[in-house]
Amino acid sequence: MDRGFTVHQPLPFAALGTASGLAHLRIMETTDLHVHLAPYDYYADCPNPDLGLVKLAHLIDRARAECPNALLFDNGDFLQGTPVGDYIAYERGLREGDVHPVIAAMNALEFDAITLGNHEFNYGLDFLMTALTRCDAPVVTANLLRAPGVAAPGQDRSLTRPYKLLDRTIIDTTGRAQQIRVGVIGFAPPQITMWERQLLQGRLWARDMVQSAQAWLPEMREAGADIIVALAHTGLGHPRTGEGAENAAVALARLDGIDVVLAGHSHMVFPGPGIAATPEIDPVAGTICGKPAVMAGFWGSHLGVVDLLLQRDGATWHVMGSRSEARALRAPAPPARTGTLPGLSAGAKGRLHDEAARLVPRRSPAVRRAVQAVHRQTLAAIRRPIGATRHPLHSFFALLGRSTATALVAEAKRRYIAHKLEGTEHAGLPVIAAVAPFKAGGRSGPRHYTDISAGPLALRHVSDLYFFPNSVAALRLNGAQIRQWLERSASVFNRITVDPVADTAPRALLNPAMAPYDFEILYGIDHRIDLSQPARFDPDTQTENARNSRIGEIRLNGAPLDDTAEVILCTNSFRANGAAGFAGTGGDRMIYCDTRAVHEVLRHHIGTPDLIDIIDPVPVRFARIPGGKAVFATGPNAVPHLHEIADLNPHRMDDNPQGFMQLVLDFSAV
Ligand code: MN
Ligand code: MG
Repeated sequence: MDRGFTVHQPLPFAALGTASGLAHLRIMETTDLHVHLAPYDYYADCPNPDLGLVKLAHLIDRARAECPNALLFDNGDFLQGTPVGDYIAYERGLREGDVHPVIAAMNALEFDAITLGNHEFNYGLDFLMTALTRCDAPVVTANLLRAPGVAAPGQDRSLTRPYKLLDRTIIDTTGRAQQIRVGVIGFAPPQITMWERQLLQGRLWARDMVQSAQAWLPEMREAGADIIVALAHTGLGHPRTGEGAENAAVALARLDGIDVVLAGHSHMVFPGPGIAATPEIDPVAGTICGKPAVMAGFWGSHLGVVDLLLQRDGATWHVMGSRSEARALRAPAPPARTGTLPGLSAGAKGRLHDEAARLVPRRSPAVRRAVQAVHRQTLAAIRRPIGATRHPLHSFFALLGRSTATALVAEAKRRYIAHKLEGTEHAGLPVIAAVAPFKAGGRSGPRHYTDISAGPLALRHVSDLYFFPNSVAALRLNGAQIRQWLERSASVFNRITVDPVADTAPRALLNPAMAPYDFEILYGIDHRIDLSQPARFDPDTQTENARNSRIGEIRLNGAPLDDTAEVILCTNSFRANGAAGFAGTGGDRMIYCDTRAVHEVLRHHIGTPDLIDIIDPVPVRFARIPGGKAVFATGPNAVPHLHEIADLNPHRMDDNPQGFMQLVLDFSAV
């Protein structure tokens, strides 16, 4: 028995060599590709060998050659995320019959089934459905619905088929052909209908993932599924999540009937050291609730591989053991695993391997051919000049509230909304703008920053400055609600404590449980953040402690903003629809939203020469903390811009193992 297998039941070791009812089935996952096809960074306009399906295709070829019984699935979020996706959606368009380049690449790789993620809906339902008409693989989504069932989830009319039964011939450990029926069922966060309300209202409904699973699993078993694989575009989450949870992979793994969980959405790598062990989650063995599981990172960073040891038991197959692995694109290729197949004589191993290599053609060249043309077209489109900037536009200090990049986006949104509200009942109210940094390092690494030099701007810079396809939205809020936004944003920081006796090393400035986009920078008002105070918002419990306050006086146009004064706050459709529950969102406080993408608004703003240089350089200030220090991590390319945070007296330490530059900031003299 290979040590890499997690054995669920005692294996009949003595019988292994002669048993004809044993088979090895490999299940492969790609997830969260986000249109990363060619190994190229379109924002920086240079190659990046660490991402993309073109390169991942080589790993897929190799994994298929190692194991003749292999299935390949994609777990969603494939349609949006690079300028290639924007180029197709906004520039070239997708007409009836066109093949989207992501679909073309998937067809070339011969995926066995795919599911949909939340980002598939960013360009609207019609765009998605047009793209899917050319997809060769079956598309499964059980909990996204055209019409919810009246009495029971099993009567739901789902957007695509809820599940698919794949009949496959596999070679058992003695080299004999055997039949297997693999059921695949798809899930995605039900929040999609909230996040994309403007595009989907009245056209798409969503149900809780676990409810939908419970509705369809018995039918799949009755229809003869030997094993069932969940294509779950969802993060791991907690074992007993409430109804409608966004991250439900653990809850799905608990269900009888699901044998394998392919997870995604949270862009983590599983199995791997980045995920903590819990009673349900074994990040070493790669199991969740004892079921084999995998999550293959994002942008083509990894290939998920789940190997199952199956035993034929009368009419059906049982999972006897499993091994999960996330193979990194960046790492050197692992040695071929065929030699570790259990229960094979040396001769049989060799025979199987040769057979596999012959039977499994390499598909990677076809993937490269499928994306070549669109790669060139995208480069031509995004290099077209549209304007110019006198300031460098970067996001290295965006998490300190100092970013020319987010300031430019704020001004573009503010002007657009002010114009749209002219002549309405809301005209005359002050218009302020909130922008969260999207490219600010974090999990995406030390290269993931906006870094644009002063000078000409091209279309690729627009995508760099704002790469989510949200639209502009506006809320009519009072001063108390604005304060809640600021308190919530200021909760991304750890508390800074000063111990005059023990000279302790400074802590990290940012709470790692918070994402960069949790930090909303509000432009158009003045305030200070006092980090000597505890945070009001707790990301673990998702609750607020109203006694905690880090925000002092808020001023607007030089005068204090009181709790009842009203302002218009410009934000995006995602936030305004209630994502993360900021004050006044998700209801009738939203007074404006259209389907015009922020990307388009920004493009127009950059193309208007008088407007581009209007930016607010320091919308966020920190309160003075004598002796207060904290460690801030940013990209090493921030070095030429350090003067912009001179008031925080940055002192460079060693870079951290991920390659981030670490700065000790001093809050004594701000
Ligand atoms: Mn994603
Ligand atoms: Mg997602």
